Amino acid sequence: MDIHEYQAKELLSNFGVEVPPGALAYSPEQASYRARELGGDKWIVKAQVHAGGRGKAGGVKLCGNDIEIQSACEGMFGRKLVTHQTSPEGKGIYRVYVESAVVIDREIYLGFVLDRSSQRIMIVASGEGGMEIEDISAERPESIVRSTVEPAVGLQEFQCREIAFKLGLAPSLSAQMVRTLKGCYRAFTELDATMVEINPLVITGDQRVLALDAKMTFDDNALFRHPQISELRDKSQEDPRESRAADRGLSYVGLDGNIGCIVNGAGLAMATMDTIKLAGGEPANFLDIGGGATPERVAKAFRLVMSDNNVQAVLVNIFAGINRCDWVAEGVVAALKEVEVDVPVIVRLAGTNVEEGQKILAKSGLPIIRATTLVEAAERAVGAWQSDLAQGTKVRVEK
Ligand code: GDP
Ligand code: MN
Repeated sequence: MDIHEYQAKELLSNFGVEVPPGALAYSPEQASYRARELGGDKWIVKAQVHAGGRGKAGGVKLCGNDIEIQSACEGMFGRKLVTHQTSPEGKGIYRVYVESAVVIDREIYLGFVLDRSSQRIMIVASGEGGMEIEDISAERPESIVRSTVEPAVGLQEFQCREIAFKLGLAPSLSAQMVRTLKGCYRAFTELDATMVEINPLVITGDQRVLALDAKMTFDDNALFRHPQISELRDKSQEDPRESRAADRGLSYVGLDGNIGCIVNGAGLAMATMDTIKLAGGEPANFLDIGGGATPERVAKAFRLVMSDNNVQAVLVNIFAGINRCDWVAEGVVAALKEVEVDVPVIVRLAGTNVEEGQKILAKSGLPIIRATTLVEAAERAVGAWQSDLAQGTKVRVEK
């Protein structure tokens, strides 16, 4: 789960990371009021969306008076911000964060990530702040400092000093840097984060180490331990298809193609998407309905997949190990009677009781296209979709 910049800043500041004074606003009037409360004569107005790259996309504006704050807000509230990290539709702006502007001496990139190969938390830093980490690693890879944390002892003071040194920070800034690094590390571990990114972490004109931006992502599977973090969820920033799925306990990732996928098992779901692509199609989603594919779960999955207007064929691919194909087939038949599915449905079953399963599908009288192998299923799905397209009959219209 992602959270907003202002939320991440509040969390991190509770762990000793210094952030500029700021306040949240839900309207342009409120933004002006917040700026007056903050005082000073320069403010940064920042669109709160779950995506980076806002600066280049017009979502971060430096303002020197009330008129500028108003015009910055007019360009943000109610609009969608499209950055290189969002989809082409962008993300809606419903809140802005107003911050006192600071004078920047130096920008640093700082990230805490889960490094799967070393199975440790890794600190990634670079003196090339302000740039995205992808660009830094492409253009200035030698500037990147990496340090992994031994979990038994946690982040050590000497490690922090070493990072500060490698970034070329003045010795007088070392203590502040240690405090920042330790604060991020504690926030990461105590709140079950999977990513903390401060880009840029800045050295201000008056020699303070300050987090000007903050991003945090949390482990969904640990959210039950952190009700105060779960509360920060903002559905307006999520793909509506994915939030519906999350609410129903299904593991779904929306994609841009038009072949809907209903699969049991994450690995099989990945293989199914690959095979669809190999057959010349594009998957509309990743969906793992889990091990026990009960009729209710299958029906839920159909409803979810069909709620995507781009779906023009549905491929059901079930491998029954603990499951039974006859049971899954009953689920598919029940689901198709209950959920309105106006596109071709291709079903491939394999594993336990496959013959009984096939019989149930055949006897149902429903226009289900059956397949025995995954390749055949993918080809039929792509074929069915293409012939529908050619006939121009079943192309779905926006609801
Ligand atoms: P992002 O583009 O979504 O990553 O948004 P950021 O919060 O990183 O803001 C983009 C850029 O705006 C930063 O890299 C800074 O260079 C600049 N910026 C943000 N806050 C301030 C500030 O208080 N003073 C100055 N001078 N620049 C700022
Ligand atoms: Mn940033």
